[in-house]
Formats: sequence, structure tokens, C-alpha cells
Amino acid sequence: MTDSNSSPVEQFTFKAETKQLLNILIHSLYKDREVFLRELLSNASDALNRLRFEMVTNQNVLDPAAELSIHIKADKDSRTLTITDTGIGMTRGEIIENLGTIAQSGARRFIEATKDKKVDFSQLIGQFGVGFYSVFMVAESVKVTSRSYRPDAEAVTWYATGEDNYTVGVGAMTERGTRVEIKLKEDAVEFAEDYRLRNIIHKHSDYIGFPIYIGDGKAPVNKQTSLWRTPRKDVTDEQYREFYKQTTLDYEEPLLHIHMVTDAPVQLYALLFVPGKAERGIFALRKDDGLKLYSRNILIDEYNKDLLPDYLRFVQGVVDSEDLPLNVSRETVQSSGLMPKLKKVLTNQVIKELETLAKNNAEKYQTFWKEFGGHLKHGVASSPADADSLKPLLRFKTNLQSETWSSLDDYISRLKDGEKTIYYIIGDDPKSVLRSPHLDYFSAQGTEVLLLTDPMDSFMLMGLRSYKEYEFKNVAQAEVDAGKQAEAKNEAEKIPDADFNSLVERFKQVLGERVVGVRASNRLSQSVARLVDPDGTLNPELQRVYRLLGKEYEIPKKILELNPSHNILKNLLNLDPGSELQTAIIEQIYDSALLVEGLHPDPSSMVVRVQQIMEAALNRRTI
Ligand code: ADP
Ligand code: MG
Repeated sequence: MTDSNSSPVEQFTFKAETKQLLNILIHSLYKDREVFLRELLSNASDALNRLRFEMVTNQNVLDPAAELSIHIKADKDSRTLTITDTGIGMTRGEIIENLGTIAQSGARRFIEATKDKKVDFSQLIGQFGVGFYSVFMVAESVKVTSRSYRPDAEAVTWYATGEDNYTVGVGAMTERGTRVEIKLKEDAVEFAEDYRLRNIIHKHSDYIGFPIYIGDGKAPVNKQTSLWRTPRKDVTDEQYREFYKQTTLDYEEPLLHIHMVTDAPVQLYALLFVPGKAERGIFALRKDDGLKLYSRNILIDEYNKDLLPDYLRFVQGVVDSEDLPLNVSRETVQSSGLMPKLKKVLTNQVIKELETLAKNNAEKYQTFWKEFGGHLKHGVASSPADADSLKPLLRFKTNLQSETWSSLDDYISRLKDGEKTIYYIIGDDPKSVLRSPHLDYFSAQGTEVLLLTDPMDSFMLMGLRSYKEYEFKNVAQAEVDAGKQAEAKNEAEKIPDADFNSLVERFKQVLGERVVGVRASNRLSQSVARLVDPDGTLNPELQRVYRLLGKEYEIPKKILELNPSHNILKNLLNLDPGSELQTAIIEQIYDSALLVEGLHPDPSSMVVRVQQIMEAALNRRTI
């Protein structure tokens, strides 16, 4: 065989980053050098997978009857290790691109990553599209010979010693696939021992879906079944974790794994994970959301987003279904009627497992909630069909239990007999919301109020009007029933009606169009004033959402309610009507009320006035 386009052996130079990478690999001492085998086997497995996928639609491949397998041969005396697969193979162009050129950006990122001392190289190396080069941790030289599945392709060979250059020439290979021949370094001869190879395979590559043979052995050394098809009882926690780390390259342990097998209404295997953190690490392998979708062990979609609702997009993992027709393409799978069924089954299972976690391990569930609670809130609003099963998973802080998380059922269990209302308050952060005047009356009465201080809470409320037979009510809504007790208690200390009315007029004069009304409230005890929505205001929550989103936003017009028993108002009456100080204090009362509502567009604008008021206060003290 001759190569008509070029001389039989051509020399190429690695690009700068690849050279640097090889240099790091050759000269560093890694305790986990064994991972090179995992990388080479994973490449072989990828190549076999791609070939199998090709064969589904294309009969015209070289050696169609060849077994899809991997053979390893080791020879201690000559320090050689050979790994041969019957996968998709590479053409001359592909081998130059894949083993010479394409690794540039991956090499650069890997070098960046290795600067961080905490990083575990052995986990990392495979994840930058440079896994192949890990062979240079153990190799003096490497020769790759490959023959593409395309019937007209010729064999090609690639050779490198880890120095600056590699050569490409005509290869000697009659069958389809790829052969990687390694001349081991003197200190790496252990990798020519069968038992050592066997151990490494069990540790890292057991679930590769193709048989791996060592030497003349007739039985595969790997279990071959993918981890998700392995019965749960045969999988250790360690294996789940290892699988998770390899598929995501997350350093953190997953919070939860969900391993499921169902036969009805659809057949599926799934191995799903809730990550430990909501945010992906910078080296995370998976750059997009979505689950890996397999049909009978063949990967047909790397990032499938139709298997879970949007609000569960943080879930990672693999779904494999026998029910997907085998001749599906990556495109047609989307339109197959099976997807909605798979989605339903998977969604229900994830929710169920979260319920179980909440019940059996409250502490871990809290960790989950802190990381991913926002997603579930999103789900309550965006997926009405799931809302009922999501509501029990919600967690809240309350005015009475401000340090611990309570579920809605916890809240209900603490309700006084006959009460059918779940009260909530909306605010910017848990501390300041506790100072809200809206809470005065409820806290004084010992009524529990949910503190909704997450921006997502306002969205959640759109899907959260009731829970079981309990209605949700915003304590800032004007029509909430006032109750008689508080009223009676404050009666004695109230400003007389006539005085109070003239004060109300002053407020109206000063605030003008900015409020729709000023009136007395019998629901305030510690606070001077509060802003409430006029009855029938739609979605008061949205006002905050707009402000948080930084949208063009007008301060909503509200009713200013005053506390007729408050000392500040009594003293305000003693000031000269229309005096500068009185006006300043009225303005400040209004601004403070806006502030606690989380509605103030420009809090620092108050500084000048506050200073003016402080000066006045100090002057009085010295008189
Ligand atoms: P990755 O596997 O992440 O792409 P590698 O450095 O491990 O990165 O491999 C680089 C590329 O070389 C692979 O993407 C593949 O195209 C090609 N390759 C490596 N080994 C094989 C093989 N055994 N058969 C076919 N192609 C291979
Ligand atoms: Mg690889």
C-alpha cells in the first residue's frame, strides 16, 4: 500500500501548548499514572460506540461482522503494552487532527488547571480532550495504527516519543479499528503485568459496554454492563460517586443519587444525580444542562433537555430506554411520543426521592434546599401539574422560627385550632423583613408568618395560592382582618381624633400624589407607619420583582397607614405646623416605609434629610 498524496512518512511538530502539556506529563510524578489505561480504554469504547451508531444506519462499513471488542496484550520482557479496538478507526486526516492538532485548546485549559494545586490531575486529564496524551506518563514512545470503518480508507500510523515532533505514515493493518502500541518507561513496567491491568480495569473501566480481553483470555475481564444497568444491590456508593465524578468532573460529592429501573408505563434505566453545589465548577465537564440519553446502551444524545422539566435542570445523569426505536436519529427522538412518558416517570421519581430525603435526612435536605430551593420554587410557578407535589418540598423561615427551616406542614401543625390562613410577608432580606411594620401585629399576637425574601419567592407565589385547605395571605395586604384585641389595647394611648385628622391632612399635603391615601391603622404597635396596597391591586409581589430586575419602574402608589398611638406622631403634632422639621420628618416616615417594603429606588438620597433631622434632634437636647 502506498500513500499517493505524500511521502510515506511525514513529520509534524506539536503546537506550543501541546508541547508544554507533554512536558508536564513526562516529567511530573503522578501517583495515579494508572489512569492512562482508563483514558485509552475510554477512547476505544467511544470509537466502538460511534461505530455501532454508524452501523445502525449504514451497512457499508469495513468488517461488519467483526466483534465489537478491545484486546490488550502485554509483554514484560519487551516492556510493551498494546491496546486494540475494532471501533470506528481514523483516516490519515483524522489522526493528524485528533492526535496532533485538535488538542490545542484542551491542552491550554489543562495547563491552566494544573496551576491549581488542589486539582487532582488524574481525574482531570480525560476531561479536556487530551486524555490520549496521558499515555506519556508511562510511555517512552507510542505508535498508533488505525484503519477507518470507511471501506475505501487506508491504514495510517502515528508515532511520537513525547518530544516536539510526531510522524505520520502508511500503516500496516487489514482490519477496521485502532491499535495503540506503547513502549513502557523503565519505571512503568508494572503496567505490563496482567494482574495489574485487571485491577485497573475493575477499578476504572468495569462498566465499559464492550468486552475487554487480556492476552489470550477468552472471557472478558470487565463486567461490561453499564453501571445504570447493573442491579442496585451490586453497586457500591463508591462506584456511584466515581461514576458521577467521571461524568461531570465535579469535585464535590453528589448530594443524592437516584438509580431506577422501570418496566411500565415505559421501560427505562436511569442513573441520576443531584450535584452537591448548584454552581458548576470551572473545570466541570458538562457545559450544558441535560441528561445523556442512551437507547439500548448506545449514546444518542449527550445533552437531552426533554427528559426533565426546566426546573429540574440541575439534575445530572444518564437515561437508557429499550423502548426507543433503535433506528432513531438524534433528531427524531425528540418527536417520538415516548419522550413525554419518560419525562413524567423521571420527574415523579426525582420528586419522590426528594421527599424521601426530606423525611429521612432533614439535614441533608436543608443543604439541598439551600442550593436548589430556588429551582423548586420556580417549578411551583411554572409547572402547575407538578405544583401539588412540589409544595411539601418547600422550606421557609418564619417570624417565629427565623433560624430553622419549616415546611408548610410544620407551619400548619403550629396553627391555632380552626385557623385556615397561611400568612406571608415579602421583603429583601431575612433580617430587615423582621423589622417590617406589617409584622407588628402578627408578631405581637404570636401569629406565625412566612418570610419570603428570595427574589424567586415572588414568582413562586403566582403558583402558590393555597396549600391543602389553607389559603395564602400577604400581611401587607390592607384587607387582612385586624382582630379586636390589638385595637382595644391601644385605645387608651391614641391621639385624639381631631388632632389625628389634622395630622393626616399635613401628611397628605406633603406627600401629595405619591400616596393614594393616608389613614389610621390599628395594626401597628412598634412602627410609626406602613404602606399598604389599595384593595384590588394586582400582584403586589410583581412590584418588587420589577425593581429587582432593574426594570423601568415607577414607585407604586399606596396607602400610608399611621399608628395613632406612636410617640413620634404625638411629638410631630407639637411641632409648628408647616415647619421645615415637621415636613422633613413626614418625608422621612414615607421614605422609611418605602425602604422596608423594598421599594425605595434610591435610599442614599435620604442622607441629607437624615442629617437635617439629626441636627434638629441634637439642638433640642442642648436646650
Ligand atoms: P477525547 O477522548 O476527550 O476526545 P482524547 O485525547 O482522549 O480526547 O482523544 C482525542 C481524539 O482522538 C478522540 O476524540 C478521537 O477522535 C481520537 N481517538 C483517540 N483514540 C481513538 C481510538 N481508539 N479510535 C478512534 N479514535 C480515537
Ligand atoms: Mg478520551
